[in-house]
Amino acid sequence: MSKALGYAALSSTSPLAPLAFERRALRADDVAIDILYCGVCHSDLHQARNEWGIAVYPLMPGHEIVGRVTAVGPAVTRYQVGDQVGVGCMVDSCRHCDACHADLEQYCLQGPTMTYATPDRVDGSNTMGGYSDKIVVAEHFVVRIPEALALASAAPILCAGITTYSPLKHYGVKAGHKVGILGMGGLGHMGIKFAKAMGAEVTVFTRSQSKVPEAHKQGADHVIVSTDAAQMAAAAEHFDYLLDTIPVQHDLNPYLQTLKFDGVHILVGLIEPIEPAVHAGHLVIKRRVLAGSLIGGIAETQEVLDFCAEHRITCDIEMLDIQQINEAFERMHAGDVKYRFVIDMATLKG
Ligand code: NDP
Ligand code: ZN
Repeated sequence: MSKALGYAALSSTSPLAPLAFERRALRADDVAIDILYCGVCHSDLHQARNEWGIAVYPLMPGHEIVGRVTAVGPAVTRYQVGDQVGVGCMVDSCRHCDACHADLEQYCLQGPTMTYATPDRVDGSNTMGGYSDKIVVAEHFVVRIPEALALASAAPILCAGITTYSPLKHYGVKAGHKVGILGMGGLGHMGIKFAKAMGAEVTVFTRSQSKVPEAHKQGADHVIVSTDAAQMAAAAEHFDYLLDTIPVQHDLNPYLQTLKFDGVHILVGLIEPIEPAVHAGHLVIKRRVLAGSLIGGIAETQEVLDFCAEHRITCDIEMLDIQQINEAFERMHAGDVKYRFVIDMATLKG
C-alpha cells in the first residue's frame, strides 16, 4: 500500500475536500502512475452529487487521467517506468465475456469496474478516481498518450473524446452525412471535431446565442439555437445522425423531427428516464432510431488518442488548481466552461 492524497466528496451535499487514503500495492499486472492532469467531466458532478443514485462515498471523481508510470508489476509487458499514459472511465472488467472478448469492456456482461465509486473486483474496496496524486491500474486498462499530444489537453480525450468518437465511428459517419451535435460542452466540442474529421457536414445545436461564433470556430458548418422554434422547424428532416450530449432531461421530440427517415438520434448525455415522453410516431413513421452509447472500449480509446495525434485534434481546456474544483463544478453546472476544465495535479502538493 502507498499513501495517496486526493479530493473527495463525503456525501451528496458536501463539497469536495482533501482526503488522505491508500493506493493498493502493485498486483502482477498493475501499473503505478503519478497523475499529472485530470479532466473534469460532467459525470464527476453527477456522481459527487449522487444525481444518478449510484454514488458510493467517499467519492473521489476523475476519469480523464494522464500521468507517468512510476512502477510496474512483474507481469506487465507494455509499459515501463517513465512512459506517458492515460486512464479513462474503466479500470477493470471480467475480461472473459463476449463483450470483453470483442474489446467492448464498457458493455462487460458482469459490469465494468469504473475508475471511481465501484467495488474493486479483487479486494472489494471502493475505487478512487483521478482527482489525486497517483493511481494503480491493471495494464489492460492503461493507454499510451502519443508523443504528439500535449499531456494536459489530451486528458479529456480519455472520456469526452472516446464517448463522442465511438458512436460516430460505430454508425459509420462519413463524407456526405449531416451530423447534429446537441450541446456544446466538453463532449460536444469534441464531437464537432470528430464528425468534421470523418468528413461530415456538422451542425451544432446550442441553447446559447453567445456560443454561435464559437461553434463556427470549433469547425461547425452551421449552428441552430435550439430555443428558437423557427430555427428548429427549418431543420426538419435534415440530419442523418444526432449526437445528444445534453446532461439533463429535455424534450427529444423537436430534435427527432430534424432527422431524415432512417436517421439515428444517439443519446450519450442522459442516463435517466426520458421526459417528456417521446412520441413514437416520430420514430415509426420515418423508421428513425433512438439509440444510446457508453464511452468506448480500451482498444478504441487507444485508437481515438492515435486519431487525435494524426488529425491534430486537441481539446480546448481551462486549467484549474485543484483548490478551485468546487467553483469549477458550479461553473460547469451553469454551462460556463470552455470547454473542459483540467486539473493541474501539481497544485495538490502546493
Ligand atoms: P458539459 O457540462 O461540459 O456540457 C453539456 C452541454 O449541454 C452544455 O455545454 C450545454 O451546451 C448543454 N446543456 C447543459 N445544460 C443544459 C440544459 N439544462 N438544457 C439543454 N442543454 C444543456 O458536460 P459534458 O460534455 O462533460 O457531459 C455531457 C453529459 O454526458 C453528462 O451528462 C455526462 O454525465 C455524460 N457523459 C456520458 C458518457 C457516456 O459514456 N455516455 C461519458 C461521459 C459523459 P449549450 O450551452 O451549447 O446548450
Ligand atoms: Zn466522463
